[in-house]
Amino acid sequence: MINLLDFDRDGLTRWCVEQGEKPFRATQVFRWIHQRGVADVAQMTDLAKSWRDKLQGQAAVLPLTVVSEQVSRDGTVKWLFDVGAGNAIETVFIPEDDRGTLCVSSQAGCAVACRFCSTGHQGFSRNLSTGEILAQLWHAEHQLRRRLALPDGERAITNVVMMGMGEPLQNYSALVPALKVMLDDHGYGLSRRRVTVSTSGVVPMIERLMVDCPVALAVSLHAPDNDLRDHLVPLNRKYPLAELLAACKAYLAAAPRDFITFEYCMLDGVNDHPDQARALLDLVRGQVPCKFNLIPFNPFPASGLKRSPRERVVAFADVLQNGGIVTTIRKTRGDDIEAACGQLAGEVQDRTRVQLRLADRASFPVKVQAETP
Ligand code: SAH
Ligand code: SF4
Repeated sequence: MINLLDFDRDGLTRWCVEQGEKPFRATQVFRWIHQRGVADVAQMTDLAKSWRDKLQGQAAVLPLTVVSEQVSRDGTVKWLFDVGAGNAIETVFIPEDDRGTLCVSSQAGCAVACRFCSTGHQGFSRNLSTGEILAQLWHAEHQLRRRLALPDGERAITNVVMMGMGEPLQNYSALVPALKVMLDDHGYGLSRRRVTVSTSGVVPMIERLMVDCPVALAVSLHAPDNDLRDHLVPLNRKYPLAELLAACKAYLAAAPRDFITFEYCMLDGVNDHPDQARALLDLVRGQVPCKFNLIPFNPFPASGLKRSPRERVVAFADVLQNGGIVTTIRKTRGDDIEAACGQLAGEVQDRTRVQLRLADRASFPVKVQAETP
């Protein structure tokens, strides 16, 4: 069975033409799926009957199976999806006053194995397909629209960040068509500035993304020098800082924003000394127009690491800010449901835990804050 979620519009058009259909038929189907959330071909009422019959025999929207859905006290929603063979992935919706952000996974597990990341600790299982990446957005958008009773054409999700499980630039060929559907006016119609790829620094793929589908770029830096970064983000041994920063600088020529966001996870006694903030200034100033986003480390038992105390994070931010770099400290969202950065582990095998989480959920007021797109 062909999964209609696996195609961007060009791909779907090519497939339709191969079936002997006119190209505009593809756009019709695409709009039913992504704009209206319709999975059942029989409900796509303005398609010619012959085309519907043809589709029904061989193609379908294949959604992901939901294992659990949890709603945090702060309105954050986390879905755990089963992707087969004991693997699960997680997707998180973060409502704010002026936007709704969906944090999407690109892989089951991750091969980069960053020291401070729970996904990295579980190892790599497999890449997600384009359809599996998009099924997260498709499910979240249309479910939230129904739940919030949004009027036709109003979106629940205004921003997508590829910051869930996995390294998106190590799943490049599936990622790019998914990004294109997010941007497509007949799909989710998001602006390039509101779709962010976050990477631990896969340099050759940063260079390709710039050509194939330039969207906002976030780079997970975490250290001001190669020695420490080699240890925290093992991929640094392959693509050291000088190469990474050069790729960031080059990316800006095509990027929809005129800065790169550097993410920096604050680890107690490891990378949070004011001298390290000064070293960061030396590294990036005059090199790459950037902003810093400091992420308080979200601990998990196997990491052996601790979150930097708040004062240290603030002092670190001050050094960067005084050095002329706009710096924000990320608010932790959804930590009561383990939906915060780096806590996503996709524990589908542990059914007891899932049951407990479902029980937990029942005790929360199940309400998603309304947000304006
Ligand atoms: N693989 C990509 C995107 C997924 S991780 C990347 O590394 O950028 C998304 C963000 O969460 C990254 O900036 C990552 O460094 C951060 N992160 C991972 N584990 C974390 C943790 N335990 N606490 C806080 N942030 C974490
Ligand atoms: Fe992979 Fe990103 Fe986690 Fe590193 S931080 S292990 S790259 S998901």
